[in-house]
Amino acid sequence: MKRIFLSFTLAILSLSAEIIETGTFSNILNHVSEDTLVVLDIDDTLLLPKQTLGNDAWFCYRWQEHQNNGLSKSEALEKALAEWEAIRHLTEVKIVEEGTEEVVSQVQKMGIPVMALTTQGLALTTRTLQQLATLKIDMEKAAPSNEEYYFLNPSPYGGTQGVIYRKGVLFTAGSKKGAALKTLLEHLNLKPKHIVFINDKESHLKDVEEDMEKMGIHFTGLRYSIGDERVKSFDPRLTDIQWKHSTLGHLLSDQEALRLLN
Ligand SMILES: [Mg+2]
Repeated sequence: MKRIFLSFTLAILSLSAEIIETGTFSNILNHVSEDTLVVLDIDDTLLLPKQTLGNDAWFCYRWQEHQNNGLSKSEALEKALAEWEAIRHLTEVKIVEEGTEEVVSQVQKMGIPVMALTTQGLALTTRTLQQLATLKIDMEKAAPSNEEYYFLNPSPYGGTQGVIYRKGVLFTAGSKKGAALKTLLEHLNLKPKHIVFINDKESHLKDVEEDMEKMGIHFTGLRYSIGDERVKSFDPRLTDIQWKHSTLGHLLSDQEALRLLN
């Protein structure tokens, strides 16, 4: 009886999910084993635009601004996304934390499957893969599959959204990450025992956690806090100047915008 109870408890424990705060990317190494699928968020986790214009805090600011100016939530989202994508096509990027590319490579060399999961739209697939390459991150190396897969995923505002898995990255185009990952895993006939997902946004971790629990996959979410101060100190005056005075050939750096601001 005791043994049955123990194995029952272990079964529950092994299905448990957890979300842990981490300020360092390399913390993923403490949570992986050979049965793990490692999933990486891209924006604010792996990379960032070199200037504040084009980062996630700026995108959220624009989304709110468009709503303040009378657009509905979904209209404002579409508009802010279009602007954000325009900048993301033009910008150079930098790594969020020094050494992240080595940690990714280390996990890949351990033979543990690694993929990325982003809400970016399909128009950015080629550009984002190029930008990751400039940072020496190759998501194809230990990807769970090299096959390309396009499918429809429920959109948060009704209807469906086309999403694509390409070269180890799943682009969900603003639709739910959890549902998209579930569909991809089912399509690939993959059922890892454990998923570790690192993301700066807790809402995305919770979303994926919910779907992985439904699939009976043990989930560890790492809420990556390294950019919290940067997000808190976001200054829209700076990005308003960058938005107004940048050209297609030159996006104003933060230093250049600060000089104009003062
Ligand atoms: Mg992010």
